[in-house]
Amino acid sequence: MIQSLLVKIQKIAILISRNPLSIIYYPESAEELTMRATLYKIVTFDASHRLLHYVGKCNQLHGHHWKVEVWVEGNVDEKTQIVVDYNTIKKVIERFDHMVILNKKDPMVACLERYQSVVQVNGDPTSELFAQHIKNILENDEDFKRVDAKVTKIRVWESPTSCAEIL
Ligand SMILES: [Zn+2]
Repeated sequence: MIQSLLVKIQKIAILISRNPLSIIYYPESAEELTMRATLYKIVTFDASHRLLHYVGKCNQLHGHHWKVEVWVEGNVDEKTQIVVDYNTIKKVIERFDHMVILNKKDPMVACLERYQSVVQVNGDPTSELFAQHIKNILENDEDFKRVDAKVTKIRVWESPTSCAEIL
């Protein structure tokens, strides 16, 4: 591994101009042009939910100030020098702002939909399930699908002391 890295470094000619902050690399192959990076983004929003099968006060409709942390890994685009626009991640997650998120089997869905749209998910909208749901929504977003990247981790905070993480 280290040996191959040294060979790779040796292949790359480095030109240092008179300005020491300017270094120009000359990679020998297309493979060497490919740089990978991990991006990290935090998005916050307000939304309400209730847990249909929970015994306790989380069974009542209530709100949270949600915080979502997203890790994205992918190839850096040669022209734009970015993996994915941070705003693409923000735009997708902010769609949940001021929404009500419910289990699609929750009888409250039909009641609320007379007045406003409801985000329906496949199960009780816990932070665990919500993390998976956001990952699916993000990976199916048209702008996200245009880039060569994937979501490697999502952490959903429903309070400053409670979060769920999925890989
Ligand atoms: Zn809650």
